[in-house]
Amino acid sequence: MTQPIKLSGKDLFNGRQLLGPDKVLILDKSGRVADIVDKNEAGGDIQELDGILSPGFVNTHCHLELSHMKGMIPEKTGLPAFLTAVMTRRGAPSPDTDAQLAAAETAMWEQGISAVGDICNGTATLPQKQQGRLYYHSFIECMGFIDAAAGQRFEQSLAVYRQFQETISPQHRCSLAPHAPYSVSATLFGLLAGLENNTPLTIHNQESEAENILYRQKTGPFLEFYEHFGMDISGFSAGHASSLQACLPYLSGSPLLLVHNTFSAEADMLAAQERALPVYWCLCPLANLYIEDRLPDIDLLRRTGCTVALGTDSLASNHQLSIWAEIQAIRERYPEIPLAELLQWATFNGAQALGIGDRYGSFEQGMQPGVVVIGEAGVTRVV
Ligand SMILES: [Zn+2]
Repeated sequence: MTQPIKLSGKDLFNGRQLLGPDKVLILDKSGRVADIVDKNEAGGDIQELDGILSPGFVNTHCHLELSHMKGMIPEKTGLPAFLTAVMTRRGAPSPDTDAQLAAAETAMWEQGISAVGDICNGTATLPQKQQGRLYYHSFIECMGFIDAAAGQRFEQSLAVYRQFQETISPQHRCSLAPHAPYSVSATLFGLLAGLENNTPLTIHNQESEAENILYRQKTGPFLEFYEHFGMDISGFSAGHASSLQACLPYLSGSPLLLVHNTFSAEADMLAAQERALPVYWCLCPLANLYIEDRLPDIDLLRRTGCTVALGTDSLASNHQLSIWAEIQAIRERYPEIPLAELLQWATFNGAQALGIGDRYGSFEQGMQPGVVVIGEAGVTRVV
């Protein structure tokens, strides 16, 4: 019989709470959780680690396919200018792209990330994902703000989706996702809403005040953005309370992961919380600081009882892909939030948001979430 792995640290976080220093995490050889026991019942061969033990992190929002854009886009320009820069500079995959994707994935692995919700416009990330080191839920993105092109855009995304379904290993999953309220027309939203078993849903939400202004008044910086790309948006009508409240009716069929939420107000949070199915609020603070130089109202999210998860966004809008770095950014500005709550956002809540709570995000018996140790110098992966 192979020996179990016994790990102990300065504290043990199980996905929901800190259990203290006198606990031992017991894993089988494959890293599956067997038990958590008191130290005096654990027997010998305990590895003592210099930090807090935690399940591997869940990065609920990434764009691995943009990994070649690190450092290319200027900071703090606001979202419409950022998007214009990404769309005009992202370019075609180069011979270096595969190596850049692999390096980005290795960095996530080393930073303790075990599972990723990854936005995809094409199939560039498929070969990397087939290697199976991390779990990926691939969100195949669908966009097109011109109503007349909705059918064609929908078919394009479905074609990418089918390639993922045919190619990717069975333990990985994918779903189709609308990009954002300012880039998806009503007809396209309707086509996506008609899909069965398309779960979970995700959407970039209220990343910029420009998005709310567009939906309330049909004015603001997005009009310039459409003009720059020669888009006729005469079919779009405003007069809504906010972009989120206008789009929620299209997003009712599945658990929903709302990403960014930088300009979400209390009325938006309450409207989303009224849904019958769960809603998760993904924060990508370092990308928000990179693009808009502002953070979401995290106090308000907590006060209204929103379930929060964390994401890194892409290397186009972040200097690294590290959930621990995102936690540090929040702690600097919100030192009163308990560490256990932040770690729950990074583990348990993220796994629930991606529908993988049966394997990731906690140290329940039978789970295989990976193990990280959080020490003075940062995060190290143990298993
Ligand atoms: Zn994004």
